[in-house]
Amino acid sequence: MHWFRRLMYGRNGMDTLANVCLIAGLVVYIVAAIFDLFWISLLFFALVIYAYFRCFSKNVYKRRQENAAFVGFFALRKKMFKERKEWRYIRCSKCKAYLRVPRGKGTLEVKCPKCGETFRVKG
Ligand SMILES: [Zn+2]
Repeated sequence: MHWFRRLMYGRNGMDTLANVCLIAGLVVYIVAAIFDLFWISLLFFALVIYAYFRCFSKNVYKRRQENAAFVGFFALRKKMFKERKEWRYIRCSKCKAYLRVPRGKGTLEVKCPKCGETFRVKG
C-alpha cells in the first residue's frame, strides 16, 4: 500500500467530476453493449481516460477549479429549482451573472452587484 500512497502523492485523486465520468462511462458502455453500438462505446473509453487523467493529474489547482465549476453548476440548478416559486433567476445583460429577483412584485429596477449594470425586469 506504501507504493500506492507514494504514487498518488501530489496528485488530484478521485473527485466528483471523475466519479461522474466513470459512472457515465459505465452507463454508456451498457447502452452500447445492449444496442450493439460500436462508435458509442468509444465514448466509454474517452470518459474513462478523462476520469483517470483527472485522478492522476499533478495540476491539482486546475482540477479543483474544474471540479468546483462542475459541482457549482448543479448546486445552482438545484437551488433554482427549490426556490422557483418565490424567486426568479435572471442573467445580467452585461456580465451574464445570475441575479435573483422576487416573484410577484411587478416590474423592478435591478442593479447587478457584480458589474453595476442597472436594468428593469418583470418579477
Ligand atoms: Zn452584471
